[in-house]
Amino acid sequence: MPLVLHNTLTRRKEVFAPLDARRVRMYVCGPTVYDLPHIGNARPVIVFDVLYRLLRRLYGAAHVCYARNITDIDDKIIARAKETGEPIRDLTERTATIFHEDVAALGTVPPDIEPRATDHIPQMIRMIETLIASRHAYIADHHVLFAVTSMSDYGRLSRRSRDEMIAGARVEVAPYKRDPADFVLWKPSAPDQPGWDSPWGRGRPGWHIECSAMSEAHLGETLDIHGGGIDLIFPHHENEIAQSVCAHGGRPFARYWLHNEFVVVEGEKMSKSLGNFLTIRDVLAEAPGEAARYAMLMSHYRDPLDWTADRLTEARRALDRFYLALRQAEAPVPAAGDAPQGVRAALEDDLNTPLALAALHDALGALNKAGNTAEKARLKAELLAGGALLGLLQQDPQAWLQGGGEASEIDALIAERNAARRARNFPRADDIRTRLAMRGIVLEDKPDGTTDWRRAT
Ligand code: AMP
Ligand code: ZN
Repeated sequence: MPLVLHNTLTRRKEVFAPLDARRVRMYVCGPTVYDLPHIGNARPVIVFDVLYRLLRRLYGAAHVCYARNITDIDDKIIARAKETGEPIRDLTERTATIFHEDVAALGTVPPDIEPRATDHIPQMIRMIETLIASRHAYIADHHVLFAVTSMSDYGRLSRRSRDEMIAGARVEVAPYKRDPADFVLWKPSAPDQPGWDSPWGRGRPGWHIECSAMSEAHLGETLDIHGGGIDLIFPHHENEIAQSVCAHGGRPFARYWLHNEFVVVEGEKMSKSLGNFLTIRDVLAEAPGEAARYAMLMSHYRDPLDWTADRLTEARRALDRFYLALRQAEAPVPAAGDAPQGVRAALEDDLNTPLALAALHDALGALNKAGNTAEKARLKAELLAGGALLGLLQQDPQAWLQGGGEASEIDALIAERNAARRARNFPRADDIRTRLAMRGIVLEDKPDGTTDWRRAT
């Protein structure tokens, strides 16, 4: 089955065909680093991680190039640094590290390239110069602005009317603009603001030009896939298209645009400004990263996702079932299995992760029913390969089932209980079982006299 992806540009599912199958190029807008990322911010990271894993599986790991930027110059960063007194560079480094730790805990593979905006100022300046030379941009009051009327199909991605665009979020009305929808490519910096020398004086780039310049620098003029959350469709992605297409003589910028829906809380977008957010760290304090990842994949990326405690518990229980089966299936694992057909087919149909999880559960059912060792080994390998495509089930089952740092203390109690059982001191053995149960530890006595344990959910 071919890979089919929903393209925001056409609002349809389309068969995916890269320009060059030996170098499939994907760019995803990354975080603006000034604060702890929330679980809504984790959604695009996880969704595009699944797509990255699938593309690597389809085209070979060496033939996929995934870039996700870090926006480390932005007015929100400047404002936060001013508020707290933390130097900008410290703030961006510290929060970029937190972002990396958080998304690693969610089981995401690092992208091939992670360009930082502040490392690409010369490329941004060059692109702006090209836009000025071709009259797509103009200088006004120490700013450089993109002239939206210079591009006939501006607005094609977001399909907004002119009035909607002007009223739209993040469009600043300013007297120096020729047209209210024009947007900033470069702006002046006050002496206490970070800035770089440019042909237009000391200043800093607008947000949109950062992605156009960084994607060109690392992936070339035309991308196969460009992704991000739906809030980026307008103005950010619309403006990236305008800049890149106009700087590249009309050649296309991105061929497939993918956008994830929001993580919502009681129907409203989870966001810093509404204050209705849980940081990734808050979630990781409640549950292992793998459970959070599973919980995210329970919904299709184009559906809103209500983040609840129940969802997380359900995810955790489901993972318990998988890991229990993997622990029990002691059969040796062949080097590489192929993911269950149902998992692959679901992912190839526009990343249908809920269906892929259902297919993974079918594979689990088959493993639990398997009779002989060879059959078990094959099904176990298949289950692990399916898990790998989704970024799940790659831990040692024992580590998952026992999770937490008190393992040796528990092992000591179990040893004591086993000794009590051997000495036929059953009241003592039962007492230890009860004490462990009160701490949420479930014991499983095996026929050979040993005991396994796991954390109850
Ligand atoms: P920001 O740092 O606000 O630019 O957001 C980083 C990424 O997270 C972007 O791709 C946003 O679209 C995405 N994002 C922000 N809030 C949410 C949310 N509540 N649900 C899903 N994605 C979000
Ligand atoms: Zn971007």
